[in-house]
Amino acid sequence: MLDTSCIRAAMALSLLLFASVAAAARPAPAASEPTDEQTAAQLRDEALAGENLAWDWVSELTTRFGPRPAGSDNEHRAAEWAAERLKALGFANVHIESFPITAWVRGVESAQIVAPVPQPLVVAALGESPPTPPTGLEGEVVIFPTLADLKAAPAGSLDGKIAFVAARMVRMQDGAGYGAAVEARVDGPAEAAKRGAIAFVLRSVGTDSNRIAHTGTTAYVDGRVPVPAFALAAPDADQIERLAALGGKVRIHLYSSASYVPDAHSQNVIADVPGRVHPEQVVLLGAHLDSWDQGTGAVDDGTGTAIVTAAAKLILDLPQRGPRRTVRVVLFGSEEVAQPVAPFGAFGGHAYADSHKAELAHHVLAAESDFGTDRVYSLELPAAVVKSEFATTAMRVLQPIGVLAAAEPARQSGTDVRPTNEAGVPPFALLQDGTHYFDVHHTADDTLDKVDREQLDQNVAAWAALVWLAADSDVDFRGQEAPH
Ligand SMILES: [Zn+2]
Repeated sequence: MLDTSCIRAAMALSLLLFASVAAAARPAPAASEPTDEQTAAQLRDEALAGENLAWDWVSELTTRFGPRPAGSDNEHRAAEWAAERLKALGFANVHIESFPITAWVRGVESAQIVAPVPQPLVVAALGESPPTPPTGLEGEVVIFPTLADLKAAPAGSLDGKIAFVAARMVRMQDGAGYGAAVEARVDGPAEAAKRGAIAFVLRSVGTDSNRIAHTGTTAYVDGRVPVPAFALAAPDADQIERLAALGGKVRIHLYSSASYVPDAHSQNVIADVPGRVHPEQVVLLGAHLDSWDQGTGAVDDGTGTAIVTAAAKLILDLPQRGPRRTVRVVLFGSEEVAQPVAPFGAFGGHAYADSHKAELAHHVLAAESDFGTDRVYSLELPAAVVKSEFATTAMRVLQPIGVLAAAEPARQSGTDVRPTNEAGVPPFALLQDGTHYFDVHHTADDTLDKVDREQLDQNVAAWAALVWLAADSDVDFRGQEAPH
């Protein structure tokens, strides 16, 4: 027979049982054991003191392998080196996952103003741009202030001419000027071709005023980039605009012997700090090993690979104990180049999301470091935890190194992890100061001397602390029942 006292006793018992199950799932730290917050602060301070491998990693990567274009021998060798190094550092599950790509190889290239007065131009062929004929191309330049102006030009109005989009990228701390300017680089060649142009040029998508051109990928349309396409160094773009403003026609000559390697391959390098309690639950930290071909890819994205690897290594080496969840480093290949077939860009990122599809339900977070090496100033967290104890703790650890809570939740983190984020894995973002990033981005000037070691250490500090807090927690960043 059940009476109310029995029910009360049963409820008390079940509460007790619930409490003991909860305690078993998440034991309170012993008196001698540091709290998660203390451990995060310890990781932060170690990184900040320079006790991390980021500088050595990026120095060795950029020195040994130089430029690492997607599908090149340099990129393959860098991936093999990274895998060997990660094994030697003590990471688990270290392996390389290859995938096929079409590689693009820059050839010899040159450009000149031929009329009204001959003079040389500094250019870089855009990635995936086809070569010119062996004797080059010559035509009258038609200037469009923006991509929208080019799109407004009637069909046939550019027959035999060279379209030039002269838009300037705006310097902004968060890099937002890039998104606005880069559309011209991606879509400009096809829009110019549709209207009869024989070639496309644009003012480099960058914020410097040096005679260095910024390359970058452009889009294939129906399996091809329809016309040769080049970026002009900013002062050379200015020169053409001023010449045109003086009246008369400006004619330029363009030459490129670029080529394609259709049966190339690229690869992602994977390494884990295994989770102690939930090894199947993954906090993914990404960066990309490939780079553009003219510099050594120090800030794009050698430093990103250094930051995430160094942060994970600090967690791996914690003397007390490892994280409850797995911390996974993915060094992506082929981030920079588009492919003749969809999807656009991030081929390594798509390869990872495809081949790990079955595991993504257990990935708890995925974020990327791919914005150079200047200091982290803001943290964006998934919407589900913006107003949580997790966020409060994270900010207590990060504010002393100059990181503030972002006003908005994280919507994205980086190109390589976007396919994983789009599969439902929440992003976070440690936003870096991008004021100067686009001075060297995708240029011959992207070299190791641009890396500020103190700021690099501050990045490692922020990543190590935040990733530890996430990986040692049971926090559900999706805002729904956590996978078990
Ligand atoms: Zn990058």
